[in-house]
Amino acid sequence: MKVDPAVQKQQAQAAKAAAAAKVKANELGQIPVLMYHRIIEKPGSQDDRTPAKFRADLERLARDGYVPITAAEYVTGKIDIPAGRHPVVLTFDDSSPSQLTLDELGVPKADTAVAILREMAAKHPGFRAVATFYVTRDMFGKSTREEQAQTLMWLKDNGFDIGNHTRDHVNLRERSQKDVADQIGSIQQQVKSLAAISPVTLALPYGNQPKVKEWALRGKAGEGVYNHGGVFLAGYTPAPAPFTKTFDPLGIPRIRAMDKTGDCTQFCSTAWLDWLKSNPDMRYTSDGDGSTVAFPKFKAPFLRKGFAAGALPY
Ligand SMILES: [Zn+2]
Repeated sequence: MKVDPAVQKQQAQAAKAAAAAKVKANELGQIPVLMYHRIIEKPGSQDDRTPAKFRADLERLARDGYVPITAAEYVTGKIDIPAGRHPVVLTFDDSSPSQLTLDELGVPKADTAVAILREMAAKHPGFRAVATFYVTRDMFGKSTREEQAQTLMWLKDNGFDIGNHTRDHVNLRERSQKDVADQIGSIQQQVKSLAAISPVTLALPYGNQPKVKEWALRGKAGEGVYNHGGVFLAGYTPAPAPFTKTFDPLGIPRIRAMDKTGDCTQFCSTAWLDWLKSNPDMRYTSDGDGSTVAFPKFKAPFLRKGFAAGALPY
């Protein structure tokens, strides 16, 4: 007996939907994008995190079922993680040596962010050692072109993502369109010439948007042409899934990595991770199939234009 291909397709779709329902997939749910600065033993401000705290952060993420993805993967919707798991984006601003310093053989120094991340990935199967580094001219403390190229190429070769954080870490709010384009385009061009990398995303210094938000997304300064998939802010809520209508590439929120103290009682990482854990209907949960966007049928009106083809409502 011949099987009708249309019926066969329908059955396959139904099986996928049943599998998505089983793990309560919610690919229109929220994703925490965590913001780190320096990873140092003696924090100089609320932005810094000690190596011990960073280890504890990653332990908690692994325990809660999170799998790191990069900012580039997030904005382009390439979220390919196992069924029932949740994506988290780890971002590091200002390209400080505490994030990555390599020895003469190209091995990350102990207690740098990259070394700790790789340590955790080895310890927790399925936990990916990936993150996004938002670079400025500081370039991980390296001053020669050769050393800057070594560091950037090492990150690229090891699956890490490079983002743009402007050349001089300026407040873009007060700048002209030409200044904005120059600040973003010049570092874009530098990263490209050093390691053939074109940053997919940008993190705004101080979280401040330029007068016209689009200037941070697209522009041109000499050879430095940029067309970002997303621009990140500095505060202070989880981010929408890239597949929902509420996703706005011009201003994607991030969450500062910090315990529930002072002004972090509600709006930093520990507080938000607690909240996402106790509100699973709000959190992004994967169906394990990177080619579909699975969600409870009830949420269908929020599906963003352009993602209908892979939609898997259940
Ligand atoms: Zn910064």
